[in-house]
Amino acid sequence: MSIVHPLVAPWGRFSLRSFFIDAERPAIVDTGVAESPAGMATQVAALGRNIADVRWILLTHGHIDHIGGAAGLRELTGGLADVVIHTADADFLRSREAHVAERRDGRGHFVSGDEDAHRAELRAAIGGELDPDCTVSGGEALDLGDVRVRVHAIPGHTPGEVAYEIEGTGDVFVGDAVQAYGAASGFPGYEDPDAYRASLEYLRDVVKPERLYLGHPYRRQDGSEFPEVLDAADALEAIQGSLDNEARIRAAFLAHPAEATDSPYSPFQAVAEALGYTGNPAQEPAPFFTTMNAYTSHVGSDR
Ligand SMILES: [Zn+2]
Repeated sequence: MSIVHPLVAPWGRFSLRSFFIDAERPAIVDTGVAESPAGMATQVAALGRNIADVRWILLTHGHIDHIGGAAGLRELTGGLADVVIHTADADFLRSREAHVAERRDGRGHFVSGDEDAHRAELRAAIGGELDPDCTVSGGEALDLGDVRVRVHAIPGHTPGEVAYEIEGTGDVFVGDAVQAYGAASGFPGYEDPDAYRASLEYLRDVVKPERLYLGHPYRRQDGSEFPEVLDAADALEAIQGSLDNEARIRAAFLAHPAEATDSPYSPFQAVAEALGYTGNPAQEPAPFFTTMNAYTSHVGSDR
């Protein structure tokens, strides 16, 4: 009987996946948005546990749909849960304004956005700004009583993305570090393509998950969704699929120089065509433009 229980929360067109680790000092991995913890409390109660007893809030990275519920969840524990995040993503927990800057720097060249509307969305989605109780950088072990959780730095999707591994069981939580062929938007988003690759290879060759837990229902090449719990074969397929898709996107980027057109994919219309990508590229979180921006700034000179 696994001690890991998926907690699923809807958010608009997204499906957010958090996970309850049923240990002596229980943990929840990722927190959804501001409204998510209320639903988690019901799901944890159905497991015969009380959300007030949670002692660790483990954040895989700083994006709003992972940290937005952290303040509310911490409150449900009477402030007794320690909130953990990588140093490089901690400002996303401390400040809603950090998300405005991230969007501006990450895709602002390519997709216009109303920053005041974005601020209003952030006020709704992030329940509170808070200082982490514990910042990590990879290599730490966290004490859940009868269970220990190892932290692995796996940057690329964001600079501070981490994996949490339950020691001795092969259960590994990776947030958005393994995106295969993307979620509903049909495109993977990452800020550093080389780091994304290196982290995927590290997961495949060093961590070798027995069970892998993704932050959203990411898809296989045929468009079907990976389940909430990926067994070792699914995990390998998801990791290798992420590597294959990254290689395919990189090749298309390198083969097609940016060119301003009146296409919504401009200046990467030829890249989108080469990849057969037909999703709405501007729909937030706009992974197409985030990723194109990443290639432009990290590997653009390889062209
Ligand atoms: Zn993310």
